[in-house]
Amino acid sequence: AEIESTLHSGWLMRHKAVMPKWLSLYYDSPIELVSGEGRHVFDRDGRRYLDFFGGILTTMTGYNVKEVVSAISKQAEKMIHSSTLYLISPMIELAEEIATLSGIEDPKVFFTTSGTEANDAALLLATAYRGTNQIIAVRNSYHGRSFSALSVTANTHYRANSYSPFQVSYVLGGSRLRGPLANLGDQEYIERGVTDLEDVLQTQTNGHVAALIAEPIQGVGGFAVPPDGYFGQIQRVLKSSGALYISDEVQTGWGRTGENFWGYKAQGVTPDIVTFAKGIGNGLALAGVVARAEIMDAFSAASISTFGGSPLAAAGGLANLRYLLANKLQENALKTGSVLFATLNSASSEAPAVADVRGKGLMIGVEICEPGTVTPDPTTTSRVMELAKEKGLLVGKGGLAGNVLRIAPPLSLTEDEARYGAEVLAEVLIDVSREGN
Ligand code: PMP
Repeated sequence: AEIESTLHSGWLMRHKAVMPKWLSLYYDSPIELVSGEGRHVFDRDGRRYLDFFGGILTTMTGYNVKEVVSAISKQAEKMIHSSTLYLISPMIELAEEIATLSGIEDPKVFFTTSGTEANDAALLLATAYRGTNQIIAVRNSYHGRSFSALSVTANTHYRANSYSPFQVSYVLGGSRLRGPLANLGDQEYIERGVTDLEDVLQTQTNGHVAALIAEPIQGVGGFAVPPDGYFGQIQRVLKSSGALYISDEVQTGWGRTGENFWGYKAQGVTPDIVTFAKGIGNGLALAGVVARAEIMDAFSAASISTFGGSPLAAAGGLANLRYLLANKLQENALKTGSVLFATLNSASSEAPAVADVRGKGLMIGVEICEPGTVTPDPTTTSRVMELAKEKGLLVGKGGLAGNVLRIAPPLSLTEDEARYGAEVLAEVLIDVSREGN
């Protein structure tokens, strides 16, 4: 064990020496996950954890799913990569399935290798189609880490010193506990948001806007959930000026929210462009854009992605999607999510550190604040993560202040696992609330 721990600290030192300092790691003593099975992962020392964060929502069907792994290995034995200059049948098949699932009229699909790049492509398409670089984004959003994706990311920690290629205006969004949207009822929220957008269009743009980009539920922003139907009202205003609507489904797609395959469905919106990533490949580098053909094909420059939709990623993505649909994992997310909600909600009455439990399906945020207030408490949030890890449960965190626990297990979670994980977390939340007193 001593040798293991020396080795481990060796890797940590080497990580720190060679990786940028902003590539930060979770936990006081960061772990290396070396294998997984179902909803469980194992670290280098053989410790088992129930994974309630799934590699930031990338694990949809679970770890080591036979059907998915065998599709990947079969493809790997034949060919890992050719080029999108040649026909790739798994890519075409996957595109057809996504096109059908998108609900977009006359859809076309383009694959990339990350969510950042998918949003880049969406912004490229929207600006080219509309002939303007004016974009509207939502405050507290996260869309990726390239120049263009960062320019629509309204989160100061990620933007820091990047410079924007677009003219971007930001509309209201984010926390419903603090700030301009605090304590508003759904209808009030919608009215406030619509008025704000109208004002932004009038005062900050020349009226000719390419698109608005939004996450139906903000992910990195701490699982901030707007009222159902909200973006439908936003789109009505956009439409009067011809601006497009881009839905970033990187976290909310693939059935994550339980009630729908896409997050935008609950919003009563029909996006012109949808971007997806993370869960689609169940860990493979696969992402993309689906948009109306009219928009997709309006971009006239020849443009390929060397690896986007590679044979390996597409074969894995296809097997992953088929497994997810065949096993009704979206419905399972709703069922197991309700088990989590029930336990966490009832724990919150005994855990004053919990200011809010919110979300949909298997996308649940637990906001940690100083007891009886809405003042973020990132220290207690980190403590909860440490204690949960000690008890064999991994959860994520998010929110501007880093005080929202993000719970997003694989959609194949069983009811027993949901109950067990929720009880462990509830125990920890109650314990830290007592410590604080
Ligand atoms: N959009 C959203 C909503 C995301 O959560 C993320 C990743 N956290 C991205 C885009 C960027 O995806 P990637 O990290 O694959 O570039």
